Amino acid sequence: MCGIVGYLGEKKATDVILSGLEKLEYRGYDSCGVSFFSNIDNQFITYKDKGRVKHLVEDFNYSLVNHLGIGHTRWATHGKPNQVNSHPHFSRSERFSIVHNGVIENYKELTAKYLPHMKFISETDTEIIANLIEHFTHDLSVEEAIRKTLSLIEGSYALLIIDTTTPHKLYAAKNKSPLLIGVGTDGITLASDVMALIGHAQYYYPIEDKTFTSVTKQANGKYTYELFDIIGKPVTFKLLKIDMVLDEIGKAGYSHFMLKEICEQPSVIRKIMSKYMENDTFFVSPSILSMFEGIDRVYIIAAGTSMHAGFVGKHLLENMPKIPCEVFIASEFAYNPPLLVDNPLFIFISQSGETADLRACLVNVKEQGYKTLTITNVATSTLAREADAYLEIYAGPEIAVASTKAYVGQIVILTILAYLLAPRKPFDLHLELSKVAVSMEAIIDKRDYIHELVKEKITKRNCFYIGRGIDYFTCLEAALKLKEISYIQTEGFAAGELKHGTIALIEEGVPVIAIISQSAINNNTRANIREVTARGANKLVISLENVSDVTDEIILMDVHQLLTPLVTVIPTQLIAFYSALDLNKDIDKPRNLAKSVTVE
Ligand code: GLU
Repeated sequence: MCGIVGYLGEKKATDVILSGLEKLEYRGYDSCGVSFFSNIDNQFITYKDKGRVKHLVEDFNYSLVNHLGIGHTRWATHGKPNQVNSHPHFSRSERFSIVHNGVIENYKELTAKYLPHMKFISETDTEIIANLIEHFTHDLSVEEAIRKTLSLIEGSYALLIIDTTTPHKLYAAKNKSPLLIGVGTDGITLASDVMALIGHAQYYYPIEDKTFTSVTKQANGKYTYELFDIIGKPVTFKLLKIDMVLDEIGKAGYSHFMLKEICEQPSVIRKIMSKYMENDTFFVSPSILSMFEGIDRVYIIAAGTSMHAGFVGKHLLENMPKIPCEVFIASEFAYNPPLLVDNPLFIFISQSGETADLRACLVNVKEQGYKTLTITNVATSTLAREADAYLEIYAGPEIAVASTKAYVGQIVILTILAYLLAPRKPFDLHLELSKVAVSMEAIIDKRDYIHELVKEKITKRNCFYIGRGIDYFTCLEAALKLKEISYIQTEGFAAGELKHGTIALIEEGVPVIAIISQSAINNNTRANIREVTARGANKLVISLENVSDVTDEIILMDVHQLLTPLVTVIPTQLIAFYSALDLNKDIDKPRNLAKSVTVE
């Protein structure tokens, strides 16, 4: 899981690559590096180090004229994040320089079989690729050697390969990890995400699995590119237009992307409504709605924050169209699937649409002939392309690693779906979602007050969120958000369950944040708050007006009871943000994490 960028063209390659890597850092940021061909002294130069792209930019000299290069920002899977393990990696004679996103599962077997005496420089699974290519060039052309290597490696890869003997060529290949080719008027860019192509390409194509690409600067100065399958057969493809502008991925005056994205959520609700309404009525393609006909159960497969959206989705599907639904952790489902019903429908929820754990499940259930639907923020992603159908979230690019607006967007899509599937509509969805946007705005406007509450209450190294029913799902998400960016150990608990063991952790001053949005559980959750305050907890209650008490710290404007997770989550995102801010943490890029988790 990482970001890669390669460029061959008229621009300065290092400019394109370094600015691209900065945009891709959300995918991994423990180390980074570039290799480029200097046209001045006709040699390849490589800079790589532990740490952020910012340091790579500051610490090295890019003044040399250069038009070909590859770059990488890493999320280590094999070997520590250090200078030696950073990409690019080289073949033994340094003829080939490569960057790799993914995991080579059989690198040990390949080493034993083909290069048993080779001493590798790094601990990565990547170095074998460069060395196998070099090994096979003893008998084969470079392109054949690359294809032969691809036919042997098992696992996931997006690869950019430079042959230092041909500085007018750039090679690429992909399987499971994302890779897009961007076509501009003055060169070709390859990158893990369309964001790194903006400004350099007008058109792009998301390369398919097991595809090999070669880009060439021809003698007449033109840049050409070809795509082949693994056996060398040309692949046909259709370029898509890039319609994103650079502004969409800036901070727009906010101190952090996360705060910007929290504040964008009311407009995300409105945007989704506009995208899913036709003539004042909500609309989802009939072919998607018909996928639900005759099914016995929906299985939602997701991970992390998206799984929490899935829990809310289960509540919505079981309460509106009354379709039984189960939610599964993708990495568990992949290898320990439950006993399935006869007619299931699988819904995959992923912000990036590239989550490897989900992809493993998708491939598996498709092989069994089951129906699949993806809900994602990236319409061009692998999960969107490979499922039978997809629904786009339209939250816009989410840069902060901790998801906020994409989570809310996922729930809105699930709401629209459940609503359209319901034979009797329980409310006016347009009106109710508009109220949600207004209620969100009201609490976002009071964010300074939430910051004050954080200073007063979130003072310990641990914290609890408690709630019941639909509020419990928000507690899970709220706890994840707080721990992932502030590193405060936080647990989301079903309020009634705390007393069955975990209450032992409550002591003087431990913050316990309760969420109450439903009248049916109001008294019970309040009883649980009394249990913890009696043991010294420092309580903070988030409630909706109709179930509020004057002593509650955060009271939200009422929304329909099925839609409360969309508003109760907002103060919890702000609590996480301000806790991390006060602790001086790297909010947009928390340690050990990456935005799109493309390793299983
Ligand atoms: N498996 C490779 C490594 O650990 C690539 C990881 C990545 O995708 O960033 O270096």
